[in-house]
Amino acid sequence: MAVKTPKHFAEVDGFILPGGESTTMLKLIERFDLWDALSKEFAQKPVWGICAGSILLAETVTSPEQKAFEIIPMTVERNGYGRQLDSHTAEIDGYEVSFIRAPVIKDVANDIEIKASHQGDPVWVAHGQNMATTFHPELTFNFPSPMHKTFVNMVSAEMLKARP
Ligand code: GLN
Repeated sequence: MAVKTPKHFAEVDGFILPGGESTTMLKLIERFDLWDALSKEFAQKPVWGICAGSILLAETVTSPEQKAFEIIPMTVERNGYGRQLDSHTAEIDGYEVSFIRAPVIKDVANDIEIKASHQGDPVWVAHGQNMATTFHPELTFNFPSPMHKTFVNMVSAEMLKARP
């Protein structure tokens, strides 16, 4: 379901912050006054940030610096692969994914699990009940991707902890 207002937040067991333009997403979060409600939810339920979503979850954002929820201890450089022309597809974990003006993960804390790397940098990371991919797996049409399977398992594990 599309989760748009705090009323919907209580109905979901995990969040996917999609790709898009992180600056625009930040503006909309501010305009609709969703920052505090989202922070509270993200502290309790699994979150997966995809591309711009991964930027919003990072602890530190560069190029340029911008505000983020700071729930995954990593530094990301926006548009780190270059411009739109440098967007590309790649096989990650045997699945074709798309890097679209993607960020590059430059630095990760020791307790981050690097689930996949590409061109020498981490592109899929997990930290506790949260994960981030700098690429889009949802544009490939032979679902489910290994990333979707992993996230569903993370959400199921958290639900079992909350309601054994
Ligand atoms: N370049 C975008 C940003 O910095 C991310 C692009 C995407 O989500 N595909 O926010």
